[in-house]
Amino acid sequence: MRWSTAYIPTLKEAPADAEVVSHRLLVRAGMIRKLAAGIYSYLPLGLKALARVERVVREEMDRAGAQEVLLPAVQPADLWLESGRWDRYGKELLRFKDRHQRDSCLGPTHEEVITDLLRGEVRSYRQLPVILYQIQTKFRDEIRPRFGLMRGREFIMKDAYSFDRDSAGADASYQAMSEAYRRIFQRLGLRFRVVEADSGAIGGAFSHEFMVLARTGEDVIAVCPACDYAANVERAEILPPESTDSAQPPPPAEISTPGLHTVAEVCAFLGLPPTRLVKTLLFMADGRPVAALVRGDREINEVKLKNFLQAGDLRLASPGEVACLTGAPPGFAGPVNLPVPRLVADQELAARQGWITGANRTDTHLENVSLARDAAISAYADLRSMADGDACPRCRRPVTSMRGIEVGHVFKLGLKYSQAMNAVFLDEEGRERHMVMGCYGIGVSRVVAAAIEQNHDDHGIVFPPPLAPFPVILANLDVKSAGCSARAEELYVLLQGEGLDVLLDDREERPGVKFKDMDLVGAPMQLILGARGLARDAVEAKDRRTGAREELPLTGFLPAFRRWRDEVCAGWSADAG
Ligand code: ATP
Ligand code: MG
Repeated sequence: MRWSTAYIPTLKEAPADAEVVSHRLLVRAGMIRKLAAGIYSYLPLGLKALARVERVVREEMDRAGAQEVLLPAVQPADLWLESGRWDRYGKELLRFKDRHQRDSCLGPTHEEVITDLLRGEVRSYRQLPVILYQIQTKFRDEIRPRFGLMRGREFIMKDAYSFDRDSAGADASYQAMSEAYRRIFQRLGLRFRVVEADSGAIGGAFSHEFMVLARTGEDVIAVCPACDYAANVERAEILPPESTDSAQPPPPAEISTPGLHTVAEVCAFLGLPPTRLVKTLLFMADGRPVAALVRGDREINEVKLKNFLQAGDLRLASPGEVACLTGAPPGFAGPVNLPVPRLVADQELAARQGWITGANRTDTHLENVSLARDAAISAYADLRSMADGDACPRCRRPVTSMRGIEVGHVFKLGLKYSQAMNAVFLDEEGRERHMVMGCYGIGVSRVVAAAIEQNHDDHGIVFPPPLAPFPVILANLDVKSAGCSARAEELYVLLQGEGLDVLLDDREERPGVKFKDMDLVGAPMQLILGARGLARDAVEAKDRRTGAREELPLTGFLPAFRRWRDEVCAGWSADAG
């Protein structure tokens, strides 16, 4: 491709609404353009990056025995009513009526459609297992679609579904898919971790997430440096406290805390660390109030709380609701005499007595609170997120936390959908049985964004070679010089002969513009040809990742280029670990 005729509208400035670096750089590099909130057009460079991801995904899915299909984007409500998700999925499901007033939706995922497809046709155990996948546009009406391709409303997903005769078969399919996922992210040159995950709204037996490691990631994962344990902190299991203190403090006493609403304010006022406080948070779980207690320096993990309560819907109570329930404004809720039917406490709170809590009265707290003696705690449970230094649930060494971006998710679904939608087959003995399912997603468009979040610098994108729209850019600095242009054309042909997608910058632009654009769009290998180099029979080669430059001879170019290319790629592999 020649830059002079390519549609690569690079920009100096990022759009004002771009909050994350991948969004800024994707727009500036001329890869995407926004149409509406969370909805983007892919321009040639963006589409090329997507195609690179898709190609690796297809190869590895096919190798693992999955077969490609393409399912409809529009889905009838009937199927979602059958699975029970029409009511449960919430506002992310974009619903509409067609001209005959039939309820429909835009597919956010395809468990219903695929289960419907197979239940009509698979009759015998001999037809199983089956793994089908597709690469397709999904629509989820995300509440905060503000991170470009990281969290779009319309985005591209690879989703796969496995159907097996029994649980052992489903485990084998899960293994095969997990293995394929590892290969995919390895081949794409990304640094990633596989972590235990929560199975959330899709439901099912167990699941793992594939996390691209990046400081800017939305997810926090806990990793044990000693064993191979890694988990999303949303789900990481915290061990119960080792010792408990049963010595009772004196009776609770009120302390006046005028205008002090936050843990930090109360602690500063009392001169105590936040570990001495209990925070009491009020939630509405399926419309019923619940109080959740956690130590002052911790946060309630809503995923764990929701799972523990087995609630379909969980939200923080509004300030008005808090006032109604406690008789005080937010900031002063406490567990003593709290008229809420359920009080659940994080297990850590069982370890000691003598807490500071809210008093359910304006400008008042209590000291010397013993939860065992003074409050009606319904249950102690693991309700907070794992943090740095918590014990690894496998080997008890302290874990460390890091940030990641979820690019893939594998679930063992079990019988969830096959039972709800009656997807059955006849086994060897002629008995009717439900198919055992798994589902496996990769956010194809998010992978491109995640690659950029992980690999960029002040000058722009630094694409791993397998993902780069153009792995090599050849900049001709002197397009007006016939000698230089002739040499550039020769190199262009030679490089293409190596099977490389090359972008030849033959624009009539100043060298400075070419250098800036080349860095911005992130080609990992840059070749720079100018009149001065030409006179010395040399072309300059720049490794975009390290910035290292060297001269390659024009006479005997190919062997020198191959050696350099291998070095650049080896550097990437070493970096990816
Ligand atoms: P998240 O927690 O980020 O919302 P999810 O758990 O809803 O993700 P899945 O339903 O498992 O995601 O979807 C499979 C994959 O699709 C995810 O691993 C992610 O890479 C991608 N994905 C999900 N939602 C979006 C989105 N709004 N924009 C881009 N990619 C997405
Ligand atoms: Mg989601």
